[in-house]
Amino acid sequence: MSGKLGLGQVALMSEWNAVLPHLPSIGGWPIHCLLSVFVRIHSVTALQGTPLSATLSLVMSQCCRKIKDTVQKLASDHKDIHSSVSRVGKAIDRNFDSEICGVVSDAVWDSREKQQQILQMAIVEHLYQQGMLSVAEELCQESTLNVDLDFKQPFLELNRILEALHEQDLGPALEWAISHRQRLLELNSSLEFKLHRLHFIRLLASGPEKQLEALSYARHFQPFARLHQREIQVMMGSLVYLRLGLEKSPYCHLLDNSHWAEICETFTRDACSLLGLSVESPLSVSFASGCVALPVLMNIKAVIEQRQCTGVWSHKDELPIEIELGMKCWYHSVFACPILRQQTSDSNPPIKLICGHVISRDALNKLINGGKLKCPYCPMEQNPADGKRIIF
Ligand SMILES: [Zn+2]
Repeated sequence: MSGKLGLGQVALMSEWNAVLPHLPSIGGWPIHCLLSVFVRIHSVTALQGTPLSATLSLVMSQCCRKIKDTVQKLASDHKDIHSSVSRVGKAIDRNFDSEICGVVSDAVWDSREKQQQILQMAIVEHLYQQGMLSVAEELCQESTLNVDLDFKQPFLELNRILEALHEQDLGPALEWAISHRQRLLELNSSLEFKLHRLHFIRLLASGPEKQLEALSYARHFQPFARLHQREIQVMMGSLVYLRLGLEKSPYCHLLDNSHWAEICETFTRDACSLLGLSVESPLSVSFASGCVALPVLMNIKAVIEQRQCTGVWSHKDELPIEIELGMKCWYHSVFACPILRQQTSDSNPPIKLICGHVISRDALNKLINGGKLKCPYCPMEQNPADGKRIIF
């Protein structure tokens, strides 16, 4: 989304900023106060059956007064914050369209039960991906959604390893990387090397007494000598400064904490790609794209209604216009047939002719004349059966 706020958002932010200062004060002190009074009352009422002495009666009446005062204070605080919060609600109603269901025709969706199931599944997957395992479990139970272990397993494993990495424990990640070495190499991943490097750096940071251990650990770099020659040279060079202290050497950048954040990112990216998972959950991607696309869709809806051409948008899996979502949402290449000016699909795939020009299969079929095909571009004559399907 662009960084520029619309007028509605500015109005909403200013109302919200008025609420913020009230938030920390609400509840905290008065509730603490009430609790301490209740504890005192409890200790008095523990003496059940015995008549209250004059002192205890006094304590009780003090307690009652205290409770009354505190509740009054809570009520007046609540009144203050309520008026500010209700202004936020009104700003939302005034500045934003509440009715957004109408942007897409009902025919696009499956049945209500199916929709609900898909949405629940998307939320559960998102929660697993975010590492909120207990919340995901709870949702599964309450929604009676049946998620099998095969689905959960990769998320559980990734989260266990990531949690260890956050604690700067390299063990589980290294074990995982070594057991998936071949497939990681096929992905051009440098995860295993980076993990060994961090372990080595940690040994260096412990000072000269770990020098021998560091030297012996360096043998782990051997398989990566060709791909990461320069980085290995840097690490070996840093050994010279071990006695002096790495933090005072030209190699102090090795101790930078950002390496830990980087390794978490590398691990998430490479492990997700190896396991065929997306780095971001489908729910967060859909939500982010929806935020960009919704204003455009609302405009289209308004235009369609104004011009009374409601039948225009009837395609189930295609929007009436193209909406630019930004590079982040580019996942695969698309090809539009230059003859029919339509995006190719599984039923009408792109076909490469022997001259090298590419058109869609429907266009090719239309261009066949007497069993021969003349390329509309070069114009080489050829046998239509020689065209080859292209997969992007
Ligand atoms: Zn051609």
